[in-house]
Amino acid sequence: MNANTKPVIFDGHNDLLTRLWLSSAADPVHDFIYGTLPGHLDLQRCQEANWMGGLFSIFLPPYAYVKNNHPDKLANPSHSDFTPQEIVDICCEQLKLAQQLEARSDGQIQICTSLEQIQACQQNKQLAIVLHLEGAEFLAIQPDLLDVFYEAGLRSIGPLWNRKSLFGDGLNASFPHSPDTGSGLTAQGKDLILKCSEKHMLIDVSHMNERAFWDTIEIACQPIVATHSNSHALCQQARNLTDQQLAAIKQSDGLVGVNFDVAFLRADGQRNTQTSLDVIVDHLDYLIDHLGEDHVGFGSDFDGCLLPDELSDISQISMLIERMQQRHFSDQLIEKVTSKKLVYGA
Ligand SMILES: [Zn+2]
Repeated sequence: MNANTKPVIFDGHNDLLTRLWLSSAADPVHDFIYGTLPGHLDLQRCQEANWMGGLFSIFLPPYAYVKNNHPDKLANPSHSDFTPQEIVDICCEQLKLAQQLEARSDGQIQICTSLEQIQACQQNKQLAIVLHLEGAEFLAIQPDLLDVFYEAGLRSIGPLWNRKSLFGDGLNASFPHSPDTGSGLTAQGKDLILKCSEKHMLIDVSHMNERAFWDTIEIACQPIVATHSNSHALCQQARNLTDQQLAAIKQSDGLVGVNFDVAFLRADGQRNTQTSLDVIVDHLDYLIDHLGEDHVGFGSDFDGCLLPDELSDISQISMLIERMQQRHFSDQLIEKVTSKKLVYGA
């Protein structure tokens, strides 16, 4: 790879759809495709960076966050939580935003449901959206929507988020803490995983506490993926993975995407953006040591995380690639980590 060659990047996790939903712009979909959108991602910056997409999360943000920062998004901001109908509507609206991105992009963006489609997107320089569900609360309210979302392209699910739900306990813990923060999957949580497994959907353990993680390993006979998590040995965040968890993911032939959020990277767990890119490379190194180079990718968390100053948005991703080169990552290894394993399985 010479200095001007940018590796293709296929990313394990981003929160663009939630950011579009939260946006107060008149037409955020248009701004993403044809203009500039504040935040980490828009189409022009993605294309310039050779970022060809990845897993796009449909996500219900915390009620307090929406109430404090985007009260216009709530039917009644004097409530203390979302109504069941709001939970369903918010997820459906984010799905619609993904469909609009595809429909209004003049062929530049495609919702993909197979590896072949993703590979074709790469060849045709299109942005590939693989739909992912982060937290499945709305399926507890309207279970039949799983089939509707699958038909619309949903191919990846993280059944749990930080809140407790019908499917299992959340993962809320102060720093430092082990991932063991509560009980595991409920019977409904196990059922949901089995249903998604039968549909050959990807199962994401990134937001699972440790017991739910081991429950998942036991029941899901498929590669297990942590789309955006780091090493617990380097940063003792409950969201990060212990060496035993890494070994189990490796054994399942799964994958871990390294998260760029400073609070999941730093040894002190601080939300301090003055964080060297070396810390991302340290986590990559550690994950590769424990999982092997075929089991590690990027899971940036763009548009949903606090990035290091040096990597302020997608346009600065070359800074990280350069740091990987300086730290003796070969071109071949960089290609594996940035896309090859995820897109081509090799
Ligand atoms: Zn997340």
